[in-house]
Amino acid sequence: MRRMILAGMAALLLSGGHALADNFPSHSITIVVPFSAGGPSDALARIMAERMQRTLGQTLLIENVTGAGGSLGVGRVVRAAPDGYTIGFGHLGTHVANGAIYKLGYDLVTDLEPVVMLPSNPMIIVSRNTVPAKTLPELLAWLKAKPTPPTAGTAGAGSGSHIAGLYFENVSGIKLQYVPYRGTAPALTDLVAGQIDIIVDQTSNSIGQVRAGTIRAYAVTAEKRVETASDIPTTDEAGLSGFHMTLWSGFWVPKGTPKDIVAKLNGAAVEAMADPAVQQKFRDLGLDMPPKDQLTPEALGTWQKAEIAKWWPMIKAANVRVE
Ligand code: ASP
Repeated sequence: MRRMILAGMAALLLSGGHALADNFPSHSITIVVPFSAGGPSDALARIMAERMQRTLGQTLLIENVTGAGGSLGVGRVVRAAPDGYTIGFGHLGTHVANGAIYKLGYDLVTDLEPVVMLPSNPMIIVSRNTVPAKTLPELLAWLKAKPTPPTAGTAGAGSGSHIAGLYFENVSGIKLQYVPYRGTAPALTDLVAGQIDIIVDQTSNSIGQVRAGTIRAYAVTAEKRVETASDIPTTDEAGLSGFHMTLWSGFWVPKGTPKDIVAKLNGAAVEAMADPAVQQKFRDLGLDMPPKDQLTPEALGTWQKAEIAKWWPMIKAANVRVE
């Protein structure tokens, strides 16, 4: 019996894990989203999950594991079994910035395997409607003149909205007081209610409220206007020239996940992003598809490392450290 088990294990090793991948997935898969339900990461992951389950033939569940700028949710993925049944959603904040801000207890590059790059989003500068400014120069003047520091909602230290806030402080010289939430969905609710002054938010999160007239938009941090919101000027046009930021995103799995399982997940995600109906949903949210030649796991790994080299100096210079 013992010999049979050993022989079986050897066969499995020799096949490079094919036996595992052949019937993968045989039950539901969980996507860990490290921010609140209803927010931009959640929305993107749900669009992907809905389409990927058609290819994979199993249900893809979303689990929102929130807190500490998404670093708790990523930790959950790092510690999960490397069998393809736990996928982590992440972005520039969770998979780059957090490494410079938190004592994570895991390594963002060596403890995870990249799966695929997902759509990206420019940021948008938005304020509560009761702010008496209509243009970006008016907003900057109002923020500067404010007797108490202007409040900026974020999804926690290291989140996209926080890095964007730091970048905004850098280019405008205005000091912000950050109000952290477990995602920008609850931050946006408070902005609509007039509880905070601004968010430098992902366009996909704020665009619905901007269209509904419940908050005010000043500029998008992109070089070109966003197709679905072409009346909103770019930062270059509106007076904060050079303030460009794109919040890219991706899927990762725990380190040690068999290569052919990673390839199956990658294939399902690539197929989802090639579907015109999915592309339309992303376009409506102001999301840009990743370049076609950047859809391999290796490309995401290379990109993540390049982004670490680019962003860590600025984040470390801002001296944001959460122990
Ligand atoms: N992506 C985050 C969310 O879904 C927000 C952020 O990173 O700012 O809430």
